[in-house]
Amino acid sequence: MTQHTSPALFELRDITVEYGDFTAVDHVSLSLPRGEAIGIVGESGAGKSTLARVAAGLIAPATGQVLLDGEPLAPIHRTREQHRRIQMVFQNPDSSLNPSHSIYRILSEGILLHRTLGASGVRPSRAAITQRCLELLNMVGLSDADIFSRRPQAFSGGQRQRIAIARALAVNPDVLIADEPTSALDVSVQHEILDLLAALRQTQGLSLMLITHDLGVANALCDGIMVMRGGTSVVHKSTEEFFADPGPQYAQDLLAAARSVSITPQSV
Ligand code: ADP
Repeated sequence: MTQHTSPALFELRDITVEYGDFTAVDHVSLSLPRGEAIGIVGESGAGKSTLARVAAGLIAPATGQVLLDGEPLAPIHRTREQHRRIQMVFQNPDSSLNPSHSIYRILSEGILLHRTLGASGVRPSRAAITQRCLELLNMVGLSDADIFSRRPQAFSGGQRQRIAIARALAVNPDVLIADEPTSALDVSVQHEILDLLAALRQTQGLSLMLITHDLGVANALCDGIMVMRGGTSVVHKSTEEFFADPGPQYAQDLLAAARSVSITPQSV
């Protein structure tokens, strides 16, 4: 990872999350420079999703701060603009796409709410919104305008995840938090979604916080890796350094286990 003197685009500082008297995330920090991707890796229950939810402003931490361009954000009640800049894609698109809304409505809602088209504060024309929705569908590899009137159930899991990604991109975010974005999908389409995220990172200049239990996926997509275990950060290094020397025994074991199921580090 490159060294930066300016504040990181996105930073989590000393985050702790408690569910009752159980500490799910314990004083975890990370910073994400603009355009880079960090993989948060670890076994189930490590606290990865909880950390992602704090980053997205969905739950409030007991300690710590989330910063954007060096500015601390309110834990939950962020401004509309701050919400726009940090978008999230969930494991299961069904939980995030309203089944009774058309794809057109799903994609255009964010555009209308955040006024990301046309002059600032002015409601964009229907033609401009339609054009933008088509562009978004193209970006995620869905190019048929017939799609607009259909509802999420008309699509496969992989297509639904593409729609969820298109919706996140509709508001031109700076940071995309993707929480196990392929775990609910058939193996055959997992690679397609990962390739899509990798391509979008390049073309849209997105910074990516990728939650995954799969070190091979983190290796293929991310500049840096943070391993979590029991709510703590075990190691946080550049991906290159991690694969050369994972550091603590737990990280070594995780890497050995990943290699034994023949994850090839160079491919997604
Ligand atoms: P991961 O994403 O790494 O699988 P999670 O962040 O989902 O881990 O969960 C971390 C720990 O917090 C787990 O032990 C989980 O059971 C617990 N946990 C997660 N959500 C809640 C909740 N809403 N209430 C109580 N415990 C929770």
